[in-house]
Amino acid sequence: MALHTLSESSLLALFGGTFDPIHYGHLRPVEQLAKETALDKVILLPNNVPPHRPQPQASARQRLKMVELAVKGNPLFYVDSRELEVDKPSYTIETLETLRKEHGAQRPLAFIIGQDSLLSLHTWHRWEELLSFCHLLVMARPGYADRLETPQLQHWYDKHRVCNPAELKERAEGMIYQANTPLLDISATEIRQRHGEGKSCADLLPAAVERYIDSQGLYRG
Ligand code: ATP
Repeated sequence: MALHTLSESSLLALFGGTFDPIHYGHLRPVEQLAKETALDKVILLPNNVPPHRPQPQASARQRLKMVELAVKGNPLFYVDSRELEVDKPSYTIETLETLRKEHGAQRPLAFIIGQDSLLSLHTWHRWEELLSFCHLLVMARPGYADRLETPQLQHWYDKHRVCNPAELKERAEGMIYQANTPLLDISATEIRQRHGEGKSCADLLPAAVERYIDSQGLYRG
């Protein structure tokens, strides 16, 4: 299903990440989230990494290829390479602003993050404006606290949180939903380490991605 065939009331979500590499800790909770919130489409958005942060080991082209291989033939996902087509990091808020323009003011839009990203959200560029463009869907992640760091942040979260996912289609943006997604203790860091030690990651990411990693000689340490 292409994006232009979606109806105006469809809930469309954006899921950004470094995806170095993409793994089941990304894919399985998002698939569950899609069922839980009746999400019609998830746009996977591989990000550039700002120069002051540790750089991905795989190139932008390789990260994009791994994302494409991971969701090939799965109609829930659409891969958007726009952030990798410019050679500087894009702010999430700017991409969300552009998507809002592309999809119009009425369409419910959501941005998906894991609990670790929620905990550092207040460090993101213009984070207070995120809910002016989209809803926020939060997936639990093992090992990360439930409470937010400051009373102000916690207040912001409590004020916007909804417990009934049906409400997400009633407005175009502005709500936070904490999903009941499975807890999967998988990280790209662990996968890179295991590859470096010559261990299999068959239970951590799709076979096509693992084959690509091997064929490109990625993460060999
Ligand atoms: P790294 O280990 O290299 O830091 P990562 O595994 O955390 O990578 P990212 O590409 O940085 O993966 O994550 C993209 C998004 O996916 C973030 O919002 C993150 O919170 C979420 N995410 C990653 N892994 C999980 C997981 N196991 N469960 C829930 N959310 C996850």
